[in-house]
Amino acid sequence: MNILLLGSGGRESAFAWKMSQSALCEKLIIAPGNGGTAAYGKNFPLNPNDFEAVKKLVLKEEINFVVVGPEEPLVNGIHDFFLADEDLKHIPVIGPKKEGAILEGSKDFAKAFMARHNIPTPGSRSFTGENLEDGLAYLENHSMPVVLKADGLAAGKGVLICQTKEEAAEELKLMLGGKFGTAGAIVVIEEFLTGIELSVFVLTDGENYVVLPEAKDYKKIGQADTGLNTGGMGSVSPVPFADEKFLKEVEDTIIVPTIEGLKKDGIDYSGFIFFGLFKVGDKPLIIEYNCRMGDPETESVLPRIENDLVELFIAASKQKLNECTLKISPKSAATVMIVAGGYPGDYEKGKAISGIENIRKSLAFHAGTALEGGVVKTNGGRVIAITSLQDTQFDALQSATADASRIYFDGKYFREDIGFDLV
Ligand code: ATP
Repeated sequence: MNILLLGSGGRESAFAWKMSQSALCEKLIIAPGNGGTAAYGKNFPLNPNDFEAVKKLVLKEEINFVVVGPEEPLVNGIHDFFLADEDLKHIPVIGPKKEGAILEGSKDFAKAFMARHNIPTPGSRSFTGENLEDGLAYLENHSMPVVLKADGLAAGKGVLICQTKEEAAEELKLMLGGKFGTAGAIVVIEEFLTGIELSVFVLTDGENYVVLPEAKDYKKIGQADTGLNTGGMGSVSPVPFADEKFLKEVEDTIIVPTIEGLKKDGIDYSGFIFFGLFKVGDKPLIIEYNCRMGDPETESVLPRIENDLVELFIAASKQKLNECTLKISPKSAATVMIVAGGYPGDYEKGKAISGIENIRKSLAFHAGTALEGGVVKTNGGRVIAITSLQDTQFDALQSATADASRIYFDGKYFREDIGFDLV
């Protein structure tokens, strides 16, 4: 089978690593890929949002299976593009169509979906520029803190937690006034939750689903969860506080109603669903859906899956996931993300990276790297994810952290405390 994987981050490195182990994977092309993905297949430079370029590549390389890593091409309708094209429509695409990707593409849609299907989520209301006055009045009577969310994709920056009514009113005006462009044309005002976050993932074919290992990611740049939000500084799987009873409740009250809700709404969804959850007391609540796997959660989740990933994808594309049983390793995975100095603010690119060959007990999943004249250089904010799979969580955390310290480039930074709050 000739497989095309779209994307260029640590998540795609983990997918490429895992898929390349399958006997079913004869050719793997990663587009555009990064400085590490060529170890698992062939990189091809293109923008995954340029569907015509994707089509050209698919035909030239005789691709017969496509896996989409990031959300943007899905929200922009790459799956629909394949279905509408005579030359492409027979090629399975892992990732939902536009009608399903809207679960991530519109927080207003997602909140209405959750409400419609009685899925536990914090209370909220949505406002547009036309009813700004109603929004301001709503905030006047709201408890603080309060969460303001831009409806559309805003590169992880569209969620603001406001401590005072003045700050919330000011932000609402700015957001509805265009601070996030059209992504903020609708703003969801949501009740603030106090609890602990985790992520749960399923792969679904629209009819059946398999629940993948849960994970917890660490979003803040600074040690002890301080400072600015990032795309994710590390992750762990399993999550010790998510015991069997809690995960059963997640499945019964969130996963099943979501899959059933999609069916009831006539949304034919195939691909991953990422459930962003809060554990409040013993209860799970959902704060967001994503229509793809998380990054850096994927780097901790995939090493724990013992199945052939390509086999799972084929089953998903044939609506036969009911015939699959997941084999999950009881081991623990920990991922530490090495980032460029200055990230998540301004940072430089093009720094030579050394020491990757010195890591001992981990995998190095390249993210923002590029291969230039045989030298691996930094090419993004999040540079390399170091993942270790060990018998205990403590060992996994120690190995990943120790191996992260073996890699060097000018300005390198990583958090040394990822996951240690849990053991
Ligand atoms: P990402 O791109 O990381 O998936 P996002 O921009 O889609 O994020 P959310 O995941 O909905 O947005 O929110 C970002 C973060 O804001 C959450 O991880 C959480 O820490 C915080 N947050 C969101 N909603 C709430 C809430 N209702 N109560 C408390 N904190 C919240």
